[in-house]
Amino acid sequence: MGVQQLTNKILHGIAASPGIVMGKAFLVDRSKVRLPQKKIDGSRVEEEVERFQKAIQQSRKQLREIKERILDPQVRHHAFILDVHLMILDDEMLIRDTVETIRKKKVNAEWALDLTLERLDAAFHAIEDEYLKERRNDLQYVSARIFRNLLGKKHDDITRIKGNVIVVARDLSPADTLQMNLNHVAGFVTDVGGKVSHTAILARSLGIPAVAGVEMASSLINGGDLLILDGETGDLVVNPTEEVSFSFLERKRRIKFLEREALKYASLPAETRDGIRIRLQANVEMMEEIPSLKVFGAEGVGLYRTEILYLNREDLPDEEEQYRTYRRLVEDLHPFPATIRTLDIGGDKFLPNYLSEKEVNPAMGLRAIRFSLKETDIFKIQLKGLLRASAHGKLRILFPLISGIEEIRQAKAVLEEVRKGLKRAKIPFDPKIEIGAMIEIPSASITADMLAREVDFFSIGTNDLIQYALAIDRVNEHVSYLYEPLHPAILRFIRNVVKAGEQHGIPVAICGEMAAEPAYVMILMGLGLQEFSMNPASIPKVKKMLRMSRFEESRALADRVFQFSTASEIERHVRTWMAERFPGDYVQSHRKELRT
Ligand code: PEP
Ligand code: MG
Repeated sequence: MGVQQLTNKILHGIAASPGIVMGKAFLVDRSKVRLPQKKIDGSRVEEEVERFQKAIQQSRKQLREIKERILDPQVRHHAFILDVHLMILDDEMLIRDTVETIRKKKVNAEWALDLTLERLDAAFHAIEDEYLKERRNDLQYVSARIFRNLLGKKHDDITRIKGNVIVVARDLSPADTLQMNLNHVAGFVTDVGGKVSHTAILARSLGIPAVAGVEMASSLINGGDLLILDGETGDLVVNPTEEVSFSFLERKRRIKFLEREALKYASLPAETRDGIRIRLQANVEMMEEIPSLKVFGAEGVGLYRTEILYLNREDLPDEEEQYRTYRRLVEDLHPFPATIRTLDIGGDKFLPNYLSEKEVNPAMGLRAIRFSLKETDIFKIQLKGLLRASAHGKLRILFPLISGIEEIRQAKAVLEEVRKGLKRAKIPFDPKIEIGAMIEIPSASITADMLAREVDFFSIGTNDLIQYALAIDRVNEHVSYLYEPLHPAILRFIRNVVKAGEQHGIPVAICGEMAAEPAYVMILMGLGLQEFSMNPASIPKVKKMLRMSRFEESRALADRVFQFSTASEIERHVRTWMAERFPGDYVQSHRKELRT
């Protein structure tokens, strides 16, 4: 039984990671499917029971196959979850209840199973035990598989990705993404999320094009559909005609050409024509990215997100593993520095055994430094690993989501305790290690003058600063149109931090996604920022623009934008300014991006 196929249909989403790719859709089975509810004739009851049992067998076979195929030892320890799913498929109640409902109520298998699930769900709801409550998610996952088999909807499994596919899912957690064989992933499409959801950031850091927030993508697209994904504009074409494919591929060739041109600037210094030296660094999530930094001309790592070390596993990384990872990082980067951020868990990234997932409002919950200050044992292990690695190269520690002075003092107190311990044990570390605070909450920006006395540097995280200042959930596609980096409030928050840095003589960097957009960099430089950390692939285009520009003109541009009172006026002004100032290639390839 097939589902309706779309032809040459353009869906629109949010440009989450640049690049244009064409490939077959690989549907990740996370979405709820719409279920047909039909009464059936008495004579067809047994046929329906058989159809249900076949779907169960099929599901069982698929899960066993997935389990057998897991070869990667990194992923293998997740296999236990597949056993749980197989056990659910063997569950007497699930099968017997559904079969009985088909027979008694004379309804189709989908409807009958749905009724069973409603009953089971109510039972789960009443359970207090957190572990058993978790199993409710597993039940949903397994039932989605049965439904898909009943409906004959093609679905595949993450670990089975082969060829050159575009992964389509309702949502992808960073853990999902890491379980895939990324060599076979040409692109990502998600129903939810936005430009700064962590999956989007991961996609950018891996150089994989992505479109997020295509609201119905996973329901409308079938596994195997041919897709063209345009990560520059956020467009997605399903089963394109030859003519449409041709025009997209032409654009792709043009963009590739521009990227190659920009790459010529990668090894040159990031310096304006009037001699202002800017530091362009990379935001990094995985060690695998390090070799590419040289290609893109990064002068070190301005933000190493350590969460990936903790995700997708049952245990936590111990001190030794962390030490080895950070040590390799600083050694590989030599002579450039590495700014390593302590764990930023919570928000949209969770550790399996910690319950922040249950928070109603995780972005404002036990996230980042708050988590570390609560779970000090986990925090201390990380700090020990970091301090030990600091003996081998230039390492700076960055604390995320600082909301005020107490937090920074508490974090420093824990660090001091770890330092003393290492000293006592005569374990070497850099005694002058620099400590920084991420400025990504409005309260931190407003009190930056006070925070500046406590730290050696600031790094502004605009992804969160925008989220918290404008009250726009960064992963909610419904409000992404309000996510405005050039909102006058954001520019004022940034200016405040830069001023505090200047007054107290500490450097201020910016490591949010704003730093990857040449037009924004122009304004930010005019505000006084001279250190930018971004996804590595964006460095050449920013460098190219900097080398063509003058600091004085960026200052004038920054002054001008402060006279406008809305983000769209500022956006329009900057766009026009850039088009006149850098006519040709740059604007052609980024015009749409600027509009978003
Ligand atoms: C930010 O918030 O801007 C940032 C760089 O951190 P993350 O995106 O990891 O929250
Ligand atoms: Mg952040």
